[in-house]
Amino acid sequence: MTDSELILTQLRAEGYETSKTFAGADLVIVNTCGFIDDAVKESLDTIGEALAENGKVIVTGCLGAKAGASSTDAGSLVREIHPSVLAVTGPHATQEVMDAVHTHVPKPHDPFIDLVPSFGVKLTPKHYAYLKISEGCNHRCSFCIIPSMRGDLVSRPIGDVLNEARALFESGVKELLVISQDTSAYGVDVKYRTGFWDGKPVKTKMLDLVAQLGEIAKPYGAWVRLHYVYPYPHVDEVLPMMAQGLVLPYLDVPFQHAHPDVLKRMKRPANGEKNMERILRWREACPELVIRSTFIAGFPGETEAEFQYLLDFMQEAQIDRAGCFAYSPVEGASANDIPGALPTEVREERRARFMAVAEQVSAAKLQARVGQTLQVLVDAAPALGRKGGVGRSYADAPEIDGTVKILPPEKASKTMKVGDFVRARVVAADGHDLVATLV
Ligand code: SF4
Repeated sequence: MTDSELILTQLRAEGYETSKTFAGADLVIVNTCGFIDDAVKESLDTIGEALAENGKVIVTGCLGAKAGASSTDAGSLVREIHPSVLAVTGPHATQEVMDAVHTHVPKPHDPFIDLVPSFGVKLTPKHYAYLKISEGCNHRCSFCIIPSMRGDLVSRPIGDVLNEARALFESGVKELLVISQDTSAYGVDVKYRTGFWDGKPVKTKMLDLVAQLGEIAKPYGAWVRLHYVYPYPHVDEVLPMMAQGLVLPYLDVPFQHAHPDVLKRMKRPANGEKNMERILRWREACPELVIRSTFIAGFPGETEAEFQYLLDFMQEAQIDRAGCFAYSPVEGASANDIPGALPTEVREERRARFMAVAEQVSAAKLQARVGQTLQVLVDAAPALGRKGGVGRSYADAPEIDGTVKILPPEKASKTMKVGDFVRARVVAADGHDLVATLV
């Protein structure tokens, strides 16, 4: 997301305009993902569509860094399949993309026509925004190729991150979603260097970052939500901040599995047994806590007993929001060499069994919300909400979790608009969502 935003910001700053269709544009920039095979296919299809409809295509992003079968050169994979693309760049290559744009569609005459706001252009709706705190990752999980494409962890300077957060709140953002490959590791690469913000020394460290973000959000009454948090011991100290309401009591923790041997084969940065204890401690420190996680079923060598261990973990940990992928090999990942690959049917069957348990847990959790009054951030409100609307509570991250469907208000005078915080009483649970009335 952030790469696209940087490119868009730059394009706008130079006076270029964006088009809603491929056909209506002078050229098309396709930002790709090369993480999983499905994403590779989707990216290649999009490039094909853009070539067919427009003809002038620049490719950027992770897929642009990949080599094909015939050469070790970065970008050769895309060129092998779509030889007519104008340029191919890897991720975080705003300048290279801009150079290619300048070559093929020279800059408009007056670069000052479209002035860009100081915080850049956000692709997400105005009331929520992503804050990327670092790039890359120091781990080497056996199923993942992100470190080989994006390199080791590079944390952004704390002052820059906090300035961006304040600018986003000033521009009307009501919810900030902190993202990275490994949020808990923020600052490890710079040895938690002390930076400066607002004239004060602040450490480049997750806990200091979270505390500061909470303080910055306070005057705006805004939410701060943490994603990709690995369960390292220091994360325990974030829970009291959640209990105090400084940041949302929501943690997105990609556990991927629970059995220690599978985690070892996955080369995951966390220990399975300790994770259960940690979750129990977290819930004690902050009973409101909602945990989101993703899991992989059918990893190479996973025995039925190991899988059952995962199901038991899911029950005991009561993960509020869980997603599960059937293991799918990724080209270039070391997991491909692990013996004991499982047939596709077994992987799929385990995924389905996992999701059945996950859905039971989630349904019971949602049912328990009936009767509660929640603060809801409004994402959609046609006719000023007179026809009802859709929002989210602290338990729902945008795009990945459920929603709160708000019923049309009884009094026509009760209106709401996108980006408002409203209070709503839950009257029913409906699949992954809640149904509520304004109070
Ligand atoms: S922690 Fe593991 S899965 Fe996540 S980006 Fe790093 S290597 Fe990949």
